[in-house]
Amino acid sequence: MAKVITRFPPSPTGHLHIGGVRTALFNYLFTAHNGGTMYLRFEDTDRERSKPEFEQDILDALAWLKIPYTLADNPRQSERTAVYQKYIPKLITDGHAYEAEAGKENPDKKVVRFKNPNKKISFQDNVRGEVTFDTTELGDFVIARSIDEPLYHLAVVIDDHEMGVTHVIRGEDHISNTPRQILILEALGFVRPEYAHIPLILAPDRTKLSKRHGAVSVNEYKALGFIPEALLNYLALLGWNPGGEQELFTLDELAKEFTLDRVHKAGAVFAIEKLKWFNREHLKKLSDTEYAKRLGEFAGKAVDGRLVPLLKERAATLQEAAQTIDNEFGFLDEVSYDPELLLQNGKSTAEVASLHLKALTELLENIPDEGFTAAQLKDILWPYADSQGRGPVLWPLRVALSGKERSPDPFTLLALIGKQRSLERIASAAEKL
Ligand code: GLU
Repeated sequence: MAKVITRFPPSPTGHLHIGGVRTALFNYLFTAHNGGTMYLRFEDTDRERSKPEFEQDILDALAWLKIPYTLADNPRQSERTAVYQKYIPKLITDGHAYEAEAGKENPDKKVVRFKNPNKKISFQDNVRGEVTFDTTELGDFVIARSIDEPLYHLAVVIDDHEMGVTHVIRGEDHISNTPRQILILEALGFVRPEYAHIPLILAPDRTKLSKRHGAVSVNEYKALGFIPEALLNYLALLGWNPGGEQELFTLDELAKEFTLDRVHKAGAVFAIEKLKWFNREHLKKLSDTEYAKRLGEFAGKAVDGRLVPLLKERAATLQEAAQTIDNEFGFLDEVSYDPELLLQNGKSTAEVASLHLKALTELLENIPDEGFTAAQLKDILWPYADSQGRGPVLWPLRVALSGKERSPDPFTLLALIGKQRSLERIASAAEKL
């Protein structure tokens, strides 16, 4: 097979949404699997709606997702007028196109219309199999706004040819554009690329996923605390089947496995709960240091790395992790509680609780700072709690440290809070009693 060349050509008319990400991803996976090149270019023939801030948004999103690409030379269609100018007159002199009145509103303007040969076009789609369209009803469609301003269909065909694109992989919503583009490329004598039209992403009600169903742009998923590894993993499996039991993949692993013949024909329903599952699993795979770094960036404040193992159990997203810190770990900064709470809902007494806190203080004072790890603390305190009654011993200790009815276990708390502050909190609880 000749070197694979693909392209991801978003129109910079909005924020990059997850359907676009999946198109970019499938292109990348196919390209990487075959050792090819994927070009990024911007289809800005719609001058009114194309905005520089959307180009930047697309670039930022791809960088955040870490999807590799090669930026095409003169990546905007608006920068390639000279290229298109070579082809439009050629189409006209060859008899494949002609200039025509733009219409009543613009009597002096001339558009360029394609001379439709009115025939059936068939192509072998890598996902959908043989597809046939009768192009007769398209009529002599307009391909350029003027002799040097091509419209989308013409620009795409010329760009794909100039970039040597071998495979056009794009959303199924473009399938009806393909016959028009094939007519144009035949008229220009270009080689026909292979096509693969990938199924749409659907909302749970099986209509095309859109804003009214909730978050759709990459930015929104980022703000909700999803990480790129999880988003890519989930989107890859949305409409593509790896053929085995494995669900968790890195981008490189996906690229190794990816082939177009395992892309589904039917639309794929986007399920946020499933994405959350992937996110939780990918968060768990991060090192504690990396997790703390990402959460710190997300929440805009430093995160104590020792909290990470607890957060990994509790939170499916960075947003949930940040909320967990606020709601459940506020006691790391300060505690305040009703002294009654030390008495285990009335099951214990002030005398008993004081006695145990005193004994625990002695045990803790003898542990060096380096010994303040959850595992070592448990080894040392457990025999005492076990012989004296776990509830009456560990409950007041936990409350003294956290001020809460529910919290992580006291050994974890001691390790998180540290020796000095733990002893202070226990002393203050004893005073309250
Ligand atoms: N610019 C088109 C879009 O944003 C892509 C067209 C294509 O892939 O041929 O949907």
